[in-house]
Amino acid sequence: HKVIFSGIQPTGVPHLGNYLGALRQWVKLQNDAAPDTRLLFSLVDLHAITVRQDPKQLLQWKNESLAMLLAIGLDPKRCTIFHQSDVSAHSELMWILSGQASTGYLGRMTQWKEKTANEKENSEKLKLNLFSYPVLQAADVLLHRTTHVPVGHDQAQHLEFAREVANGFNHVYGQDILIPPQTLVSPAKRVMSLTHPVSKMSKSHPNPKSRILLTDSDELIQSKIKSAVTDSIEGVTYEQDRRPGDLAADLANISMRVLKEQVSSAVTKLVAPIRERHESIVGNESLLDDVATLGAAKATESAAPTLLQVKRAVGLCR
Ligand code: ATP
Ligand code: MG
Repeated sequence: HKVIFSGIQPTGVPHLGNYLGALRQWVKLQNDAAPDTRLLFSLVDLHAITVRQDPKQLLQWKNESLAMLLAIGLDPKRCTIFHQSDVSAHSELMWILSGQASTGYLGRMTQWKEKTANEKENSEKLKLNLFSYPVLQAADVLLHRTTHVPVGHDQAQHLEFAREVANGFNHVYGQDILIPPQTLVSPAKRVMSLTHPVSKMSKSHPNPKSRILLTDSDELIQSKIKSAVTDSIEGVTYEQDRRPGDLAADLANISMRVLKEQVSSAVTKLVAPIRERHESIVGNESLLDDVATLGAAKATESAAPTLLQVKRAVGLCR
């Protein structure tokens, strides 16, 4: 049977890119799933601390992100929804799998190269968990015997790495202990930043105007889209490489202002019902606690057999 696993970092309130590139597909997978398909969705808080987080802020984002998973339509009875740090097996397996992860391969990861490009002169500042987090990601997926991982385009390389780790481990310790997962790349394109259209929309970008949050009011969405970077050429045309802020040819005869109005209306229509459900859930502490407790218990149970098998294979226990 199928096992589907994916995660989102509680590094902020989820945005339109997260929704179109990942979260919307999670809900569809849940709704279309065969009865024997297992689905696990994790708030990967251990990944979130690969950059420095304010502790109070992190707790709040964990809460808001959990509420968002419910607001978009994930059902805690149907899926296992959990905070990664509630299930210590993730960290344990990561350490063991670090023995299969070459530093050369990790150093070639696009995200590592991007995130460290600015710090070139000052590698003293770079922290180990930013470098090794693809190993934790591999552990997340392999721990639950995942067969399919839905992710955005930016994560495809890390999944390839997870397969390498699984195959490497199996080669050394015995076939079929770990299952190399398949990548389900989201059919949606990357949603780009509103202020800097060559980079993708991100929770962690310092400029809040660069993203549309799923909690933004209609007015805020309208104003963010109004001030979004487009380009200086008359009419609406598109050249991905040279002018990544542009749009498609079938809109060639309308003005940028009309186009932005159309985009605003489509986006507010999509976001408003999610925002309203989120508002009604986010303050319900006892509901969120119950969901997190149930999820942690289910994920712990799901993780146990693989961790035991791995520890036995390595010679860490009988
Ligand atoms: P951060 O800036 O903290 O890394 P993020 O916005 O990149 O946050 P993640 O939690 O890293 O969000 O990713 C969650 C999921 O959303 C992943 O599957 C990722 O591929 C997808 N995703 C993130 N940003 C975009 C985007 N701009 N367009 C489409 N998919 C995205
Ligand atoms: Mg990211």
